[in-house]
Amino acid sequence: NANASIKRIGIFGSTGSIGTQALDVIAANPDKFSVEILTANGNEDLLIEQAIKFKPNVVVICDESKYAKVREALASSDSKVFAGEKALEEVAGMDIYDLMLAAIVGYAGLKPTLSAINAGKAIALANKETLVVAGDIVMQTAFQKRVPIIPVDSEHSAIFQCLVGETRNPVEKILLTASGGPFLGRKPNYLVNVKREHALQHPNWSMGAKISVDSATLMNKGLEMIEAKWLFNLRPEQIEVLIHPQSIVHSMVQFEDGSIKAQMGLPDMKLPIQYALAFPQRIQNSYPRCDFKKFKTLTFDEPDYRTFRNLTLAIEALNKGGNLACIMNAANEIAVYAFLRNKLGFLDMTDVIEHTMQKVKFIQQPTLEEYLDSDGEARTYAAEMIKL
Ligand code: NAD
Ligand code: MG
Repeated sequence: NANASIKRIGIFGSTGSIGTQALDVIAANPDKFSVEILTANGNEDLLIEQAIKFKPNVVVICDESKYAKVREALASSDSKVFAGEKALEEVAGMDIYDLMLAAIVGYAGLKPTLSAINAGKAIALANKETLVVAGDIVMQTAFQKRVPIIPVDSEHSAIFQCLVGETRNPVEKILLTASGGPFLGRKPNYLVNVKREHALQHPNWSMGAKISVDSATLMNKGLEMIEAKWLFNLRPEQIEVLIHPQSIVHSMVQFEDGSIKAQMGLPDMKLPIQYALAFPQRIQNSYPRCDFKKFKTLTFDEPDYRTFRNLTLAIEALNKGGNLACIMNAANEIAVYAFLRNKLGFLDMTDVIEHTMQKVKFIQQPTLEEYLDSDGEARTYAAEMIKL
């Protein structure tokens, strides 16, 4: 059976930056992958276009007011159309695909991903917030269900690739690289005036709006430290952040003999996406190759923790554990969306997150319900602070 080797993919968040790049990878490899599920929040026109091209089994539009339009547009196709948040979870549990690409942004990705894990699906994880919010429960469920979680985030993909073949060798520490974002080297007197347009211009990567702001504040690196803790079962002191503006070294692993492995390449998210979809295979492609003669200096430096205080807050959440990262994540999502709508200043985002972290009740060993409640409480508190 020729089809037996085809991996059936469900793309959750197919209209986003990661989702569209994943579809490019799949379109280039029709002998290896098929698309069975496409989902989007509100961008129904792109979702319809994708569904016509890739002929998935199921399409989900979260915004229910757009259901009729999507259904009508796909009426003559074989794709089934569902709408609403709950449908995401239900479809994630369906017996129609092998691997979920978790590419929804933010907390909204948690429940569908948990549903897929519970149904035994392999996960290619772009949605780092899922691990930040409830990493212990997600990883424990994946372990119980024997489900692999393959990172898509470029740094974590790098670490994952460095660890292939090293199962018996303990990690001494990981070196998580950060570009530094568009405001590298800037001080608070500059940052106080920056607006969404500046924050959305990342030097090395083109990404969705939320992660672009997170990269500008360095919250993204904080989220990634917590993501790494859960993915690779690390203690906080085993995670070091290095500012590496060239974004050629995607991250490194240091072993107990002091030897360090790095994974490198040009910054292109299609590489970690392709690796996660095809793992354990590598797929040939003809993307531009890295010419080291064009990168004569690769530099590494300490982050400016005093200026980029979100990173300091994330390290506090990493150290304290419990529901603190969940609270921080919720406040951050509210703050970032307020900043994107010009309702909150760049530096004020940190104050909202810090106060929310102090205010919402700390729980050392939360249940899933308690994580969901903490998320809700933190959102309410942060929104009240901003007067949204
Ligand atoms: P994006 O904003 O471009 O796309 C998000 C996708 O999720 C869209 O398809 C959107 O319709 C859907 N979505 C948004 N809100 C939703 C909701 N409430 N319910 C259901 N669906 C919803 O985001 P992105 O940049 O592609 O990032 C996706 C995830 O991948 C994020 O967690 C991000 O941190 C992570 N990531 C992205 C990059 C990148 O280069 N873009 C790199 C590493 C990690
Ligand atoms: Mg990353």
